[in-house]
Amino acid sequence: MPFIRNYGDGRQIWKIGKDLGPNVQTIFEQAGKGNFLSSINVIFRGSHFQTPKKFDTETTLKIIEEAYQKPEEFFSVKEVPKITVGYIPKTDDLMHHAGFDHPDYINEVLSCDEYIGSLLSTLKNIGYYEDTAICIVSDYGNYKAQNMYDLEPFFQKKGLIPYVPKKEVSDFDAAFGSIGFFNFRGDTWHHHPTIKQMRNFEPSGIGSKKLDLFETLWEIPGVKLMYYRDDNNTPDRGIIHLERRDKKTGKIMKGRIEYDVHGKNQKTKYTFDKEDLFGYENYKDVKELLDNKAHTIDEWLAATNQIDYPIFIDQLPRYFKNPRACDIMISIIGEYGFGYEHGKTVATYPYSHDIALKKSMTVPLIIGGSLEIPSFEIPYCKTTDIVPTLLNLLGIKPHWSVVGNTLLNYKREFTF
Ligand SMILES: [Zn+2]
Repeated sequence: MPFIRNYGDGRQIWKIGKDLGPNVQTIFEQAGKGNFLSSINVIFRGSHFQTPKKFDTETTLKIIEEAYQKPEEFFSVKEVPKITVGYIPKTDDLMHHAGFDHPDYINEVLSCDEYIGSLLSTLKNIGYYEDTAICIVSDYGNYKAQNMYDLEPFFQKKGLIPYVPKKEVSDFDAAFGSIGFFNFRGDTWHHHPTIKQMRNFEPSGIGSKKLDLFETLWEIPGVKLMYYRDDNNTPDRGIIHLERRDKKTGKIMKGRIEYDVHGKNQKTKYTFDKEDLFGYENYKDVKELLDNKAHTIDEWLAATNQIDYPIFIDQLPRYFKNPRACDIMISIIGEYGFGYEHGKTVATYPYSHDIALKKSMTVPLIIGGSLEIPSFEIPYCKTTDIVPTLLNLLGIKPHWSVVGNTLLNYKREFTF
C-alpha cells in the first residue's frame, strides 16, 4: 500500500508526478531531448515548471507566450519549447465555487479566448504558428446537485471516526461530492480491508455498534449505485462488484465487471443477475457487447460514447486496480451534493462534474495551428488519444504503457 496522500491539499498535489513512479512517462519524458515547458501543469515531470505569480488564466497563457518570445529566460538552450502544456485552473475553481452559470465563470472562459488569441498572434508574429500544433481540451461537463447535505452528523452517529494522519484511532477516509470514495481501515491503514472485514466493522466511536459498512452506506440519502472490488483481485485479473438500488421498490440489482489484462491491453466483461444496471440493453450496439464475452476499451467506447455511463465498463476496473483506489464507491448521480472531504463538510456549493452521465462526460477537443494537421472531424475519441496524437505530429512513438492511439489514423474511417 503506498503512502497516503490528500491531493485536495494544495501542497501535496504537486507530488503526483513523483507518486506516478517510473512505469509511466509524461509527454515530456516520451519526447526525448528538447526544451519542455509546464505552465501551471500539475504533472510536470521532465519539463521546466514555471512558478506563476497568480493562478489565473492570463498568467498561464502569458507564461507560454513569453517562453516563445524569450526562451533564454526559461531554458539553458535558447530554443522555443518543443512541447508546452498549459493548464488553466481558474475556470474549474470558479465552476465549483460560483457555478457554471455565474458571470465570473463566463468571464473567465472569455478570458481564455482572449489570451489564446494573444498567444496565436504572437506565434504568427514571430513565425512559429505554422510549425506549432495547438490542442485545446476543455474541462469536463458539469451538473448542479439538487440538494446539499451535511454528512458529518451521520458518521458521528455511526461512531465512524475520520482518518487523520498521525492520529492512532480512526476508521475511514472519504471524499464525496456526488460520488463517494470511501477507504476503511483494514488490518492497518496500509492494508485494504476484505469484504468480510467491511461486513463486520468495529467503529472506534464510544458506544458504537458493529457495522455492515455496505448497509451503512446505503443509508446515505440518494445513494443509487455502489461499487467495490473482490478480495482476490490482482492488477491483471479480478472482479468489480456492482449494485444499484431501485428508488421505488428499494430492491438491489447486482452485476459485476471482470477484467483481464495482457501487457497494456485490458478486456472487460459486464454481466448482471436479472436486470442491467446502466440501461445499456436499450441500445442495440451496446447490447451486442453484453454477450458474456470480454471487450476492449475501444469496443466499449464505440458503443457507448453517445449515452450515459460512456466507456464505464472499461474505466471502473482501471480505477480499482490502482492500489490507491477506494474500497467502496457510491454514486448519488447528482440528486445530492455533500461537499465532504476527509472528515469535514467543506463545501456548500452544488456545482461539480464527477458523475458518469453523458452531460458530464462529453468535452470538446480542437487541434489546430500547423498546416500539417489534416482537416477532419471525428465523432468521438478518448482523452488518452491526445498524447499519442501530439507525439505522432512530432514523429515520436509513444511509451509502451500509453493506452490511447493517434487520432490521425482515424481519418480514413471518419472523414465527413
Ligand atoms: Zn473540478
